[in-house]
Amino acid sequence: MKALQYRTIGAAPELVTVPDPEPGPGQVLLKVSAAGVCHSDIAVMSWPEKDFPYPLPLTLGHEGAGTIAALGEGVTGFSVGDSVAVYGPWGCGACPPCAGGRENYCLRAGELNIFPPGLGAPGAIAEYMIVDDARHLEPLGGLDPIETVPLTDAGLTPYHAIKQSLPKLVPGSTAVVIGAGGLGHVAIQLLRALSPARVIALDVSEDKLDLARTVGAHETVISDAEAADRVRELTGGRGATAVFDFVGAAPTTATAAGCVAMEGDITIVGIGGGVVPVGFGVLPFEVNVTAPYWGSRGELHEVLDLARAGSIEVHVETFAMQDAPLAYERLHSGKINGRAVILPNG
Ligand code: NAD
Ligand code: ZN
Ligand code: ZN
Repeated sequence: MKALQYRTIGAAPELVTVPDPEPGPGQVLLKVSAAGVCHSDIAVMSWPEKDFPYPLPLTLGHEGAGTIAALGEGVTGFSVGDSVAVYGPWGCGACPPCAGGRENYCLRAGELNIFPPGLGAPGAIAEYMIVDDARHLEPLGGLDPIETVPLTDAGLTPYHAIKQSLPKLVPGSTAVVIGAGGLGHVAIQLLRALSPARVIALDVSEDKLDLARTVGAHETVISDAEAADRVRELTGGRGATAVFDFVGAAPTTATAAGCVAMEGDITIVGIGGGVVPVGFGVLPFEVNVTAPYWGSRGELHEVLDLARAGSIEVHVETFAMQDAPLAYERLHSGKINGRAVILPNG
């Protein structure tokens, strides 16, 4: 089968032919309908060899959806032909966070060598993929796999982040979304669907700000050194109740720190290496700063229910399998509006 693999440190991913995988006991074989392209992969492919945590070659793609092609021995509750999305942050399934569905915070994944698909285990940008356990399958139940596949990360990650701040996002509050890309444009919709907060979107690109307005941002601001002041102006000096930073680089974490309100939240989702110093007098009083990772199985279920209700819609740009390397190039150069989705089986 065809697969998109990161094979050489520092090189672009390559389309290669690899043996068709076969499901072992307890595993499920998916014929992949759609695979999303996340900016995290670009970060992964920039890591130096000495810090690289995964075995190479690595089949990319941690957002996957497909139809069940075969069930490994002992798998029950699903049938061949079922249309499913894959919950990506695989854990052991049994430790306390996993038992609560928070496999993204599995206590034993490291020790047991459990990796998410596309981030250690073979990923979704391939004609077929192995899902390690049926509990990592979420039935799509009529949802379109192409438009839904980004919700497994670009939907689930902001959903988890936003949910923590919902008690503060009361009428009269303001939420700031920094980076209106794959995750950010879904975050804006989630904020509109789940809260009465006024939503201000920041990006460096006018095209992304157009998309931000289309999907529901009340205000948009160019993300530059004055952006924090603009947010303060737009909030009558008070600042933002919650800031969600989907870039997480030094300039944006500085903006987040500069525009957050007293008792507000800063959530750093982007992995751009920026930090927010915390200490008395450094930030407004009682600001919470957090950097979450992905989301829980239950939350994925909730995100898909929101999509079923028509409350969120991912803007997708589709690519044939042979153009998968191009999708990464275009994402790298900031040219994807919404999420790039690869169709490994046409
Ligand atoms: P993306 O490329 O689709 O979107 C990033 C957006 O940020 C783009 O619209 C870009 O124009 C904008 N941007 C770039 N520099 C900016 C700046 N200085 N100010 C404002 N906007 C700026 O990327 P994505 O796939 O949505 O991923 C976003 C980030 O989230 C990445 O860092 C990714 O690695 C990270 N991520 C984290 C998690 C997690 O669990 N914490 C999960 C998924 C993705
Ligand atoms: Zn991702
Ligand atoms: Zn676990």
